[in-house]
Amino acid sequence: MGSRVSIAMKMQLPLHKTKIICTIGPASQSETVLSDMMRGGMTIARINFSHGTLEEHRQTIAAVRSAATKQDRRCPILVDLPGPKMRIGKLETEPLLLTKGTEVTLTTRDVLGTPTLIPVTYQRLPESVSPGSVIYLNDGFIALKVITVLQDDVLCTVTVGGPLLSGKGLNLPGAKIFMAPVTDHDLELMDFALGEGVTTFGISFVETAEDILRAKMFAREKGKKIYVVAKIERAAAVENIDEILEVSDAIMVARGDLGVEIPIEEVPIVQKQLIRKANLSCRPIITATQMLESMIDNTRPTRAEATDVANAILDGTDAVMMSEETAIGRYPVEAVEVMARIAIALERQRHTIRSSIFLQEQLKGELINRQINVPDTISLNVSEAVRALSCPFILTATSGGMTARRVSRLKPDGWIIACNNDERICDFLLFSYGVFPMLMDTGTREWYRRLISLLKSSELVRRGDRVILTEGKFSGTAGGTDSLGIITIQ
Ligand code: PEP
Repeated sequence: MGSRVSIAMKMQLPLHKTKIICTIGPASQSETVLSDMMRGGMTIARINFSHGTLEEHRQTIAAVRSAATKQDRRCPILVDLPGPKMRIGKLETEPLLLTKGTEVTLTTRDVLGTPTLIPVTYQRLPESVSPGSVIYLNDGFIALKVITVLQDDVLCTVTVGGPLLSGKGLNLPGAKIFMAPVTDHDLELMDFALGEGVTTFGISFVETAEDILRAKMFAREKGKKIYVVAKIERAAAVENIDEILEVSDAIMVARGDLGVEIPIEEVPIVQKQLIRKANLSCRPIITATQMLESMIDNTRPTRAEATDVANAILDGTDAVMMSEETAIGRYPVEAVEVMARIAIALERQRHTIRSSIFLQEQLKGELINRQINVPDTISLNVSEAVRALSCPFILTATSGGMTARRVSRLKPDGWIIACNNDERICDFLLFSYGVFPMLMDTGTREWYRRLISLLKSSELVRRGDRVILTEGKFSGTAGGTDSLGIITIQ
């Protein structure tokens, strides 16, 4: 949510500060379902460009915008580019059953797959593997061990068998992949989405900062400024996370591929490390994949899923994301509602939960220990003031969104109302925890008076409440937050 300020209207805030990203697909692309999902708590619509046609994407984008406009809310679109996903080719019969202990050849030749010869889309597979390498198929459910490598063929033994379908994914953990993470096909898709006015893109299989810069450069050459979400799903991305964070606008813990590319038991640790690093560098972080997986078929999640969502929020994630649950599941609206309920319950208690308090204190300590700058000092003081005075709102005029993000990572109890007159900036602010963007001109000192009037007329503040005002008032540089004011509502 978040909209243009008009004193006549009432401001309505979501019930949860955690942002909910829903992948839109056949189960949810109708305007009716999208409207229900927005009412249920969806913040951002993700369109996975790995599936569907450009015409379908065009229709989905239009449906999301139409549903949002009718509810007078913002609903940004995150276009997720497929990247160099390696897949199995077409199989003769499906499912093809691979049996443990048997031999199978993966080939780059254009053949129809049989139980002993399976085509792959990755032409340089023989260069990426060597005898002893492990190859995973179908999200890791099938495992192969390489015996011999020939020019076009890789002979393997099946170490974990199972059924295989055409087009399923192929992962080579730790291998050198001879394909740029941003492919020419990605750039064609980005060109299309830029034409549709999309400003936020997910980049898959990122390995280095250069991958992000390539995507940004392409958009810049087209005269557009974009926000880039780096999907962390390869071991190389985990290793290079500092340089990736430096140039990305947000990151996603893409646990689907990550859980095959690195040992599954390391995923929880990596998730926590990524959340901490993203919080420290003021980049919103999205925790994704299988969060409410069982709701693809059921009206309720498992206890473990509910706990996974809550723990990600406690650890400091900005957003939680659903994939199949809302794209192809039977209960897309219910899944959003459940996600929202978990977030609401957790956020109510987060400041009483010791592990959460500890993490926030640690984050503040790390900020103080690393040669603290003025904007970080202000954000720490904002969070202290919110706590000390139980301030329900932090009002900020933010030029690029950084002031709001600096405060958001400290997970204050109050809402951060971030004012800016650029729709693109307002949309991206919706990725940050507890930030409610307002599209308004902040050029004159009137902006916060108008906002306070709106809070009063919306009955969101009462006489005697204190609200915080923070912005770059004196230094006059973007991101140069240098002031903290406390206003008592009259
Ligand atoms: C993932 O791998 O977890 C992910 C979110 O990416 P995709 O949906 O493109 O597989």
